[in-house]
Amino acid sequence: MTTAIPFNKPYVNDAGRRYIAEALSSTSHSGDGPFTRKCHALLQSLLGVPKVLLTTSCTHALEMTALLLRLQPGDEVIVPSFTFTSTANAFALRGARIVFADIRPDTLNLDERQVERLITNRTKAIIVVHYAGVGCEMDVLLEVAKRHGVAVIEDNAHGLFGKYRGRYLGTFGDLAAQSFHETKNFSCGEGGALVINEPKLIEDAEVIREKGTNRSRFFRGEIDKYSWIGLGSSYLPSDILAALLLSQLEARDEIQLRRQQIWQVYYAGLRQWAEQQGVGLPFTPAYCDQAYHVFYLLLPSLEDRQALISHLRSHGILAVFHYLPLHLSEFGRQWGGKEGDCPVTEDVSARLLRLPFFYSLADSEQARIVDSICSFVPEDVRTRRASMT
Ligand SMILES: *Cc1c(COP(=O)(O)O)cnc(C)c1O
Repeated sequence: MTTAIPFNKPYVNDAGRRYIAEALSSTSHSGDGPFTRKCHALLQSLLGVPKVLLTTSCTHALEMTALLLRLQPGDEVIVPSFTFTSTANAFALRGARIVFADIRPDTLNLDERQVERLITNRTKAIIVVHYAGVGCEMDVLLEVAKRHGVAVIEDNAHGLFGKYRGRYLGTFGDLAAQSFHETKNFSCGEGGALVINEPKLIEDAEVIREKGTNRSRFFRGEIDKYSWIGLGSSYLPSDILAALLLSQLEARDEIQLRRQQIWQVYYAGLRQWAEQQGVGLPFTPAYCDQAYHVFYLLLPSLEDRQALISHLRSHGILAVFHYLPLHLSEFGRQWGGKEGDCPVTEDVSARLLRLPFFYSLADSEQARIVDSICSFVPEDVRTRRASMT
């Protein structure tokens, strides 16, 4: 009996265990301790940005962006329909109207050619998601945003250390949100970061993250007492989690190199099968350095996708799909979404399958996954179905 292959396994190294032990033995376990400050400094210098603040999740970093934009009920934000709920929910929480946009059929990123016609005089921001860690067309998106005076927010949950035309993802928008959830390339179980590229927003961000107080300025000795000065919440992760995160950020080259190898083995091993069976593989434009976050297949149909999931499960392999179109979701329909609004999203959502993809995936396990997939023929599924009816 072969052992089951999960979809994801969290990465842990010796430094992580050591750092957590060190954080535990400290007299303080709350936020913004020594490990948090090291994560901030490392990310700021690697990305070359003015400010990074760790948060309790990417979702919370996105909620901070909505507060920083001072969104009011009725303001509009443009969001791709093919994304995780948090990308839209963070703005819906502030009463914003969510305007869903479709994606490009090649990169599955927000279709920059469709954004301009969705802009109205209520539009406050365009939210981009660098799907699978492949950059959106930022040149076009930034130009459109600038011409209309709207902000750009990057949901960069997939894309830390990926690049668009030589520049790091997460450094293009006024603000960007990172995720360190256990399913992401770098994780501390639950965590995130707000990347602040617009220096004017730094002080406001510190206040929002510290329960609406100017406590950060107090700790820097800039004021002699702190008080409640605005809206905010508690978005600081414990320094114990920052210790785990630091160990992973320090191992970034090793983690990303291994993920690149896994990605390439999938691509090389599945290319011929995919071509013969009419299955789509991921596409990365030549000027994008992807972050190796997702390896996906685009099956010919929903039936084929479901059949491949069952086929893999019978071989002890867990493959999963995402995202259901947000404009057709129970909650998302309140903004008037209907079938046909985002045809590429609707199509891709039914056919996409994600393969197991994690640092400790063994070569032998990956060979088993590739073999199992290559023994699956979508054509047979259709023929069998046809002969049954
Ligand atoms: C994972 C993810 C999030 C949410 O991240 P959390 O850290 O779990 O809040 C948001 N957006 C996208 C695109 C994601 O993949």
